[in-house]
Amino acid sequence: MILGGGTAGWMTAAALVNQLGHACDVRLVESEEIGIVGVGEATLPHIRFFVESLGIDEADFMKATHATFKVGIAFHDFGSIGSHYLHPFGSFGAPLNDVPFHHYWLRLHAAGRGGEIWDTSICNVMADECRFEPPPPGSPLYNYAYQFDSTLFGPYLRNYATARGAVRTEGKVVDVELEGESGDVRALKLESGERIEGDLFVDCSGFRALLIGEALGEEWEDWSQWLPCDRAVAMPCTPADAPLEPYTRAHAMSGGWRWRIPLQHRVGNGYVYSSAHISDQEAADALARVVEGKAMADPRVLRFRAGRRKRSWSRNVVAIGLSSGFLEPLESTSIYLVQGAIAQLIEMFPIGRVRSEDVAEFNRATDVEYDRIRDFLILHYHATSRDDSEFWNHVRTMDVPDTLHEKMDLWRRSARVAKYSQGLFFEPSWVAVYLGQGIVPDGWDQRADAAPLPELERAVDRLRCQVAERVGAMPDAAQFLATRNASIGSVG
Ligand SMILES: Cc1cc2nc3c(=O)[nH]c(=O)nc-3n(C[C@H](O)[C@H](O)[C@H](O)COP(=O)(O)OP(=O)(O)OC[C@H]3O[C@@H](n4cnc5c(N)ncnc54)[C@H](O)[C@@H]3O)c2cc1C
Repeated sequence: MILGGGTAGWMTAAALVNQLGHACDVRLVESEEIGIVGVGEATLPHIRFFVESLGIDEADFMKATHATFKVGIAFHDFGSIGSHYLHPFGSFGAPLNDVPFHHYWLRLHAAGRGGEIWDTSICNVMADECRFEPPPPGSPLYNYAYQFDSTLFGPYLRNYATARGAVRTEGKVVDVELEGESGDVRALKLESGERIEGDLFVDCSGFRALLIGEALGEEWEDWSQWLPCDRAVAMPCTPADAPLEPYTRAHAMSGGWRWRIPLQHRVGNGYVYSSAHISDQEAADALARVVEGKAMADPRVLRFRAGRRKRSWSRNVVAIGLSSGFLEPLESTSIYLVQGAIAQLIEMFPIGRVRSEDVAEFNRATDVEYDRIRDFLILHYHATSRDDSEFWNHVRTMDVPDTLHEKMDLWRRSARVAKYSQGLFFEPSWVAVYLGQGIVPDGWDQRADAAPLPELERAVDRLRCQVAERVGAMPDAAQFLATRNASIGSVG
């Protein structure tokens, strides 16, 4: 039984009917009157595997959700005003003798040679030139994600899920019935009087967290001391009269940052800010001053808290989506977290009774995901020299979690990135953000000193030429998308 028909609810329903439709009945309750959060347009490359695993045709999906391709996130003014870098969905160069490329580049850089590291990354050059082409299957060099209309993504998946047996009920849940002895959720009561029983309940009710929070009282762990942004004002606008950028933009602002997400039919904009530092009106005015294009709707303010549920799976309730936690959209991670939770749930799906070992493992894996993303996000704020507003002074000087402190020390000393096998963001992502925000390490891997400097310089130059040549042969992003759309005819 799934409560909630936003992105989380319909992603869960689609994946469950697809993979476990033979083993369980999937039912979803949603309330049109309450509606969905209606933001959440930028994703990470993992979403491709979700779409593919459902057997959905990419071109059809992208046309129906007005989606565009995304090869990274461009950060402006984060490390300092005027600075700019891309967090690419791909690598810088390639490792040599097991030593990651950035160590060689750092050695050259220290000698005043080696140019910029950014143009050794295919995604960076694609972004600079607004070109796009999918990588050959299995290519380790780069990857891509989608930017789509979040109000169309859920309905697309709803059609998919209901066509394959998921049952949808429209209605507002007004009460949750708990079983006396076990404390499990037994049934949902709707405003219409209908009572719906279930064995396992997936709470996709968004920030309301009706089951995991209200009914079961699972505690919330607050992270606002590190991630003080607690509001966003969103304002879509008409597409810019400029080349289609195959990436999401994040511009630091005096009280937070703003996103710019180009879709096929409009551009999503929003200012994520700390209400302790600026007011809703100031944020809306600041956003209105900088959006490129005509506003397509009035500014809409959304409120949230950074943090996560201490336990996302409790008794017979599994929280997925905003009911489970929220980390601001700086690195487009929420839908990824939904996808990860669904994969875990499917792997551990209880047939019969819920097993405590599975619950513990689900909660452990969820914590790991949240903790790693949290540290990565904090880095974007903390690694800055900005001192032009109270907000930036606060995040620059705040204490950070020990786990991030250790990672930053390791990087500063040795250019090494803390390695882990689970959770988001591997070496190229950390390298991009560290260097992009101006943290150049004091040392590098000694093995990078083995090759003569001129030889190294020639190799990096060669690489740069190869990247430029490869991207130069790609079509521009808008043209690639138009050809793709044309290839499948018109969608209703
Ligand atoms: C400002 C902002 C920007 C974001 N940007 C991104 C981004 O770029 N990328 C990204 O990955 N994520 C982003 N997110 C997160 C993303 O929007 C969510 O993770 C995603 O939409 C999933 O939301 P949800 O389905 O959990 O909740 P919702 O969309 O809120 O859905 C909740 C559902 O529960 C139903 N419901 C609630 N109460 C009841 C009730 N009593 N009875 C019946 N039904 C009920 C509602 O009707 C609705 O169907 C952003 C979030 C915010 C706030």
